[in-house]
Amino acid sequence: MSVPAEKQIAFPVLPQIDQQQLDEAWSKAARQGADYAPGEREALRTRIKQLLQEQDAVLVAHYYTSDDLQQLAEETGGYVADSLEMARFGNEHPASTLVVAGVFFMGETAKILNPEKRVLMPDSGATCSLDLECPAELFSAFCDAHPEYTSVVYANTSAAVKARADWVVTSGIALPIIQHLAERKEKVLWAPDRHLGSYVQQQTGVEMLIWPGSCVVHERFKAEGIRKLQQRYPQAQVLVHPESPAEVVALADVVGSTTGLIKASLNPAVQQFIVATEPGIFYKMKQASPTKLFLEAPGGGLGGSCESCLRCPWMAMNGLRNLAEVLESGANEITIAEDIRRKALIPIKRMLEFARRHQLAIRGQGNA
Ligand code: SF4
Repeated sequence: MSVPAEKQIAFPVLPQIDQQQLDEAWSKAARQGADYAPGEREALRTRIKQLLQEQDAVLVAHYYTSDDLQQLAEETGGYVADSLEMARFGNEHPASTLVVAGVFFMGETAKILNPEKRVLMPDSGATCSLDLECPAELFSAFCDAHPEYTSVVYANTSAAVKARADWVVTSGIALPIIQHLAERKEKVLWAPDRHLGSYVQQQTGVEMLIWPGSCVVHERFKAEGIRKLQQRYPQAQVLVHPESPAEVVALADVVGSTTGLIKASLNPAVQQFIVATEPGIFYKMKQASPTKLFLEAPGGGLGGSCESCLRCPWMAMNGLRNLAEVLESGANEITIAEDIRRKALIPIKRMLEFARRHQLAIRGQGNA
C-alpha cells in the first residue's frame, strides 16, 4: 500500500462552519417545522398539489428531508432519492419544472443535467458543510499546485468545483472508480469529505491527497454511544455511512451509501438496526419495514432547535410552507453560467458512462 502523501502537503485553510451559521439555518428550519395551525398542513398539501399541476412541475425530494416532503413527492408522482438520482429522474420526467427539496448543490446538479428545465428550490440558502468547505477558488488553486493528481470530487460540491474536477463520484460508486484509477496507476486528489476519502483510500490503497472537509452531521456520531447501544440491543445491526469518522465505521456491520443502507435495512433476517446517518432516512426504512426497530445512533447535537438529534440543519430548511411559497412566486430558480455547466457536465457524464460500462449503480450519494 502506498504511503499517503497528504502528510507532506500543505492544504489551504478552509472556511470554518461556525455556530452562528448553524443557528441561522435552525432558525429558518424552525419556520418549516411541524407546528401547524389546525388545518394548515392539509391546506398546504392541497395547495402544493394544485400548484404542481398548474405549473407542470414535479417534486423531487432527498432522503434527508422531512417525512411531509417525502410523502408529498411520492403522492404527486415525484421521487425520493439521492441527488444524482433526483437529477436523473428529473431528466426522464416530462415536467418542465423540477422542484428540488434538498440542499443547493442538488439544485445545481439537477440544472447541470437538465438545462432546458426550470429548477426551483424551497430555500436556495440551504447549503452543505462539504460544499462550504470546498470553495472553487481554493480547490482550483490546489489542483493547479498538484497537476500530477487526478481530481475526484464527491457529488456534495458546487457546480464550479465539479467544473474543475476530472471525476465526480457518489459514495455508491467511489470505490470502483478509485480502483479503476489505481489500475491506471493514477494518483488521486480527493475532495471534499475526509472521512469518505480515508475510507476509500483504506479500501483501495491508492495514493491520495485528501481534502480536509467534513459533514457536520456524520462527523458527530460517537463510537462510544454506539457501543453502549449495542450492549442494550445485541441483535441490532449497525448501519454506517462512510462520511462518519473511522472509529464509527469500524463498528459497522454494513458501510454504505444512503441507498445502500436502505437496502441493508430490508434484510429479512435482521429486525433491529442502529443507524448512523441523517435520521430523515428513517422515513424510507420504516415505510419498507414497518415492524422493524430503527434506532438513531448517538452523537453530539447540532445546536438550535435540535440539541440532541442529528438532523442536517440545511435539509431541515425545506418544508411545506416554503415549498408552497416558491411555487406561488417562482423564486429561488437555479441558474448556472453555461460555461460552468458544460464543464461540470463532463466529469458527471464520465461517472455515468463508467457506471454504464461496468453495469454499476451510482445510487447513494450519501447524503447526498
Ligand atoms: S447531511 Fe448531507 S447536506 Fe447536510 S451537511 Fe452533511 S453532507 Fe451536507
